[in-house]
Amino acid sequence: MRYEPVIGLEVHAQLLTQSKIFCGCSTQFGAEPNHHTCPVCAGFPGVLPVLNKKVVDFAIKAGLATHCHIAASSRFARKNYFYPDLPKGYQISQYELPVCTHGYIDVDVNGQSKRVRITRIHMEEDAGKNIHELQGDFSLVDLNRAGVPLLEIVSEPDLRTAEQAGSYLRALRCMLQYLEICDGNMEEGSFRCDANVSVRPEGTAALGTKTELKNLNSFKAVEKAIRYEIQRHADILSEGGQLIQETRLWDSDQEVTRAMRTKEFAHDYRYFPDPDLLPLIIDDNWIREIRNTLPELPDARRARFIAQYGLPPYDAGLLTSRKDIADFFEQAVAVHSNPKAISNWILGDLFRVVKERRLDEQLYIASWPAQAQHLAELVRLIDEGIISGKIAKSVFDQVIDSGRAPSEIVAEKGLEQVSDASTLETAVQHVMAANTQQVSQYLAGNEKVFGFLVGQVMKATQGKANPQKVNELLKKKLHGGV
Ligand SMILES: [Zn+2]
Repeated sequence: MRYEPVIGLEVHAQLLTQSKIFCGCSTQFGAEPNHHTCPVCAGFPGVLPVLNKKVVDFAIKAGLATHCHIAASSRFARKNYFYPDLPKGYQISQYELPVCTHGYIDVDVNGQSKRVRITRIHMEEDAGKNIHELQGDFSLVDLNRAGVPLLEIVSEPDLRTAEQAGSYLRALRCMLQYLEICDGNMEEGSFRCDANVSVRPEGTAALGTKTELKNLNSFKAVEKAIRYEIQRHADILSEGGQLIQETRLWDSDQEVTRAMRTKEFAHDYRYFPDPDLLPLIIDDNWIREIRNTLPELPDARRARFIAQYGLPPYDAGLLTSRKDIADFFEQAVAVHSNPKAISNWILGDLFRVVKERRLDEQLYIASWPAQAQHLAELVRLIDEGIISGKIAKSVFDQVIDSGRAPSEIVAEKGLEQVSDASTLETAVQHVMAANTQQVSQYLAGNEKVFGFLVGQVMKATQGKANPQKVNELLKKKLHGGV
C-alpha cells in the first residue's frame, strides 16, 4: 500500500512592536529576567488589558499580503490552561472570530508554483518562559516574554511533502520579513513552527490520524522531522497498527520524534470571549491605510529585477528570496551598474563563503563579511580592466577576510593587471624563445598550442597580464609582426 502524506503548518511569528500586546512593557529580547514586566503581563488580579494598535496594523498587513479576508469585527478569547509561565491561568488569543481568514500564498517548489491556502491568522499573547536547566530541584520563571505579541498563521493541510513544507515556510518567513513585522529568527524563537502530519492510503480522501510535531527550530529540522514522521506513520499502518493523536517532540540529536503528550482538543481549553476586551472593529479606512503602506512584495520585486536589470528568472528568484539580499544587490548596483556581474558574485562567491561559514541560516546580511560597496568596487575594477577576473577571485577572498576595500588591497599588493605594451612584449618574447617547439607546431597549423602559449605568458606575469592584450600581442608576434 502506498500512502499520501497530508501536512499542515502552524506558525507563530513574534511581531516587531516596541511594546507588548496588552501593556506598555518593552518586547526587547535578552533583558534581565522579569525586568520587562508590569501588573498586566505578570497577571495580577484586577488589571485590564489595553490592545496595542500596532499589533492590529501588523495583523492586517500580514492578512493583506497573504490575500486574506480581513474581518470587520473580530474578538479576543481566553484560552484556559494552567502552566507556571502563564500566571493568569489563560492566554488571550482569538478563537471563533480571528482577524484574517481564507488567504493563500503561492510557493515556488523546484520551479513549480504551488498554492497553499491560509486558514486563518490570529493575534495572541505569548507566554513566559520556564527555565529548567539549573542545578537543583527547581525551575525558574521569566515573564519578560509574557504578553509579547504573536501572529498565529495556520495553513490548510495542502502540503504533501517535507520539501513543500520547507518551501512554504521559507516563503512565509520571507513575506513577513518584507513586511518588516517579524524578524524571522528561528533560533531565538521569534518564528516558530508546529507541523501537523498524517498519511492516508493513496487515492482516498478521508484524513488519517494526525500527530503534531514541536521543537522544530530550523528549516532543516522541519523537513527532517516531517520526513521521519511520514515514514513512521506509514510503517505503523503497514504493519496493521494504529496511530494515536498526540504531540511529539523532534529530537535533533537522535533525529527521531518522541511522544510528548496526547493531543489536547480545542474543547479542553474552554475558550470563551474575553470580557475585558471589546470586539475589534476594523473599518475600510483602516484597511486602506494599511494597504497603502504595503512594501513591494517578493513576487513583484522578482518581476522587477527581471524587467529592470535584465536578470534571468533564476538570479532574480534567488536574490529576492530575502529582502536583505535584494537590498544588498540594489545597493551594489547603485554604486556600479553591472547587474549581471554583481548577481554572479553574490550568488557564486558570496553564497559559497556564506555556506562554508554556515551563515546562510543567519538572519541579517549585516552579519555576513561583505559590503555592497566593496562588491560593486570589485566588479568595477574588473570592468575597467584594472584587475583580471582571476585576480579578482583572490581579492574577493581577501576582502572577506579583512573587511578592507578591494582598491586598497589591489594597490597595496600591486595586483593591477599589466596592460603596458612593452612589459607584455618582453614577456611574450621570453615565452616564445623558451618554447620554440610549440611555436613551430603552431606555425605548422596546430592552433591548440596557442592556448598553452597564452598560459605561459600569464604564468610569467603571475596571472596579472591582461589576457586580451596577451592574445593580440602573441598572435601578432607569431605571425611575424613587430
Ligand atoms: Zn507589562
